[in-house]
Amino acid sequence: MAEHKVVVAGAGMAGLVSALQLAGAGLQVTVVEKAAGPGGKIRQLFPNGQPVDSGPTVFTMRWVFDQIMTSVGTQLDAELKIHPLKVLAKHFWEDGSQLDLYADHQQSMDAVARFAGAAEAKRFEHFCQTARQVYDALEGPFIKSPSPTMAQMMGSLGPRGLATLASVGPMRSLWSSLGKHFTDQRLRQLFARYATYCGSSPWEAPATLMLIAQVEMDGVWAVEGGMHALADCLMRLGQKHGVTYLFNNECERIELNRGKVSGVRLSQGDSLRADSVVFNGDIAALRKGLLGPALNQSVAGKVQPRSLSAVTWSMHADTAGIPLDRHNVFFANHYANEFEDIFTHRRLPQQPTVYVCAQDRGTGTAPEGAERLLCLVNAPARGDKRMSEDELQACAVSSQALMAASGLHLKLESSPSCIRTTPQDFHQLFPATGGALYGQATHGWMAAFARSNARSQVPGLYLAGGSVHPGPGVPMAAMSGQLAAAALMADLGLTSLSRKTVTSGGTLTH
Ligand SMILES: Cc1cc2nc3c(=O)[nH]c(=O)nc-3n(C[C@H](O)[C@H](O)[C@H](O)COP(=O)(O)OP(=O)(O)OC[C@H]3O[C@@H](n4cnc5c(N)ncnc54)[C@H](O)[C@@H]3O)c2cc1C
Repeated sequence: MAEHKVVVAGAGMAGLVSALQLAGAGLQVTVVEKAAGPGGKIRQLFPNGQPVDSGPTVFTMRWVFDQIMTSVGTQLDAELKIHPLKVLAKHFWEDGSQLDLYADHQQSMDAVARFAGAAEAKRFEHFCQTARQVYDALEGPFIKSPSPTMAQMMGSLGPRGLATLASVGPMRSLWSSLGKHFTDQRLRQLFARYATYCGSSPWEAPATLMLIAQVEMDGVWAVEGGMHALADCLMRLGQKHGVTYLFNNECERIELNRGKVSGVRLSQGDSLRADSVVFNGDIAALRKGLLGPALNQSVAGKVQPRSLSAVTWSMHADTAGIPLDRHNVFFANHYANEFEDIFTHRRLPQQPTVYVCAQDRGTGTAPEGAERLLCLVNAPARGDKRMSEDELQACAVSSQALMAASGLHLKLESSPSCIRTTPQDFHQLFPATGGALYGQATHGWMAAFARSNARSQVPGLYLAGGSVHPGPGVPMAAMSGQLAAAALMADLGLTSLSRKTVTSGGTLTH
């Protein structure tokens, strides 16, 4: 099989995982990436010359990476230093109230009791049980399934899973379902926010997305060296298995011969022969014909609205005046307005929720003086249209005011110590997306089934990344990379993804 040539277009999470697993199984793999290095959305910016994680910061579902590492003969702990966080996140409200959630369930229960009373803590307990049941019910039949359909999922849920779904009310929105769990509107807001982890509005996302809260309660880790270290690690392992990486090289076209993939044409003028291509960009680019007009029908599934974009500020700044932890969320009043602004009016929210990742915190002594921060507010994915400087400025001002109400005084303005990224910038980085960072929005109960699986409609073309099943987020994208590799291998009649392994010293054994 070594003569079977695979090109992986994109060195995002899914592309890196696919490449590693395919090379681990003995195939010849070349990764072509238009950026200068690996990671895709896992990227670093350098305010004041300091490396700041400027994409994903919340690392969950480490078991996905444990499995990936095992499949290529190593272990996550042997490759990276990963620390579990005691505080999952701190939450601040405009009225001055504050709630920390912890990895330790009892600590969270006590915190919720102090925050909202014993009865609400009981409701929190019940919510946790329900979220756990939803996660357990859907992990096998949906998340891990290579190509779930509604009928097949219902068939494999079993009586208990069906009862769980019925109790949640799958047709209900997450927001509406949370109204049945919590009487305290701040807790409802806190848990509704998890819909944004897959770029969706809590008012339109299905109630089942409460499982994301469960994922976070199962543990959040900090990667030493930042999230970028994870991408670097996957590339390093890929190199040990013989993967070739070509950076600053966009795949401009996927070539077909008699309707089947035959190669790729690169922006630097070269062509590479390929028997299979794994495409790790957003499927919107294929649908738009950016990789060749013949491919605009190559993706199955219904087109859904774009997910959220963001405005981010990567900073090196002082945070005196407030006891931040690693993950911090600042909530405004009138939560619905944020999503109405974004999804209905297609404008930046006038009252955004602000997320601040203080990357030097959570794993040891708090830093003194300036520290590395990522501030993020949700935004409409209209980066392919003009967004005025006034609109961006107004968003920065209201974000600053919200944080200041809780005692955090940050200046969100472009300078050597503060680098802004807008939906337009994300659109440039991730073509055809308008800056949408999580593929298509999960709006409505059927949206999760509208995502394409790893097999495209074109023989030899496979899809991997946050825009395909099982969806966005670092671990989910990694799973989609595994699924694409598995589909390709299965189509070649190969089932083992671990024919070669790398010893800890880097030697290949067969
Ligand atoms: C600001 C931000 C915060 C986030 N926060 C979190 C978080 O806390 N936790 C979490 O789990 N997830 C988070 N996410 C989501 C997560 O980062 C993504 O879902 C995941 O990293 C996407 O991986 P992917 O495999 O889809 O590849 P992507 O990261 O989308 O990378 C695709 C790669 O393909 C390349 N490419 C595209 N087209 C071509 C082409 N034609 N030729 C060559 N190369 C091409 C691109 O340059 C890019 O490098 C966040 C994302 C962002 C942007």
